[in-house]
Amino acid sequence: MRRAIFPGSFDPITLGHFDIIERGAKLFDELIIAIGINADKKYMFSLEERKKFIEDAFMYVPNIKVVAYRGLTVDFCLENDVEFILRGLRNPADFEFEKAIAHTNRDLAPIETVFLLTSAKTSYISSSIVRDVIRNNGDYTKLVPKSVRI
Ligand code: ADP
Repeated sequence: MRRAIFPGSFDPITLGHFDIIERGAKLFDELIIAIGINADKKYMFSLEERKKFIEDAFMYVPNIKVVAYRGLTVDFCLENDVEFILRGLRNPADFEFEKAIAHTNRDLAPIETVFLLTSAKTSYISSSIVRDVIRNNGDYTKLVPKSVRI
């Protein structure tokens, strides 16, 4: 069983995440969307809301599961029999950031990080831009799956 995790904050899930998840789910037997809980971070959406947005978006995809976790991603992987970490790459800044994390994770545990390059159509989307559009009453619906409702 090839099991992968796609970790993130998903505050909220965007069409960029959606694209990576949809494509990633075809590469693995099971893809776990793992919402990291960071007590120091202030979120726009509650954990329950963020979880529901993702669950509703992938309601009809049987090999996608949504969970929340605390602590190191590699520890979650070891405890849940996960061999792969899936990440999306948008630009060189993502690459530099992700490279350091992937090397660190490989030092900590024998887990491979697999990168998917973002689709051209969604490469500019980030959760922080979506939150900014929402805060300023803009039309956020073009940037997120239909399940994200405020
Ligand atoms: P974090 O808050 O931990 O950065 P995010 O929820 O923003 O988590 O991102 C989780 C993953 O989704 C990361 O691998 C990130 O590169 C990827 N991602 C975010 N936005 C996009 C996008 N528009 N296209 C492709 N991947 C994306």
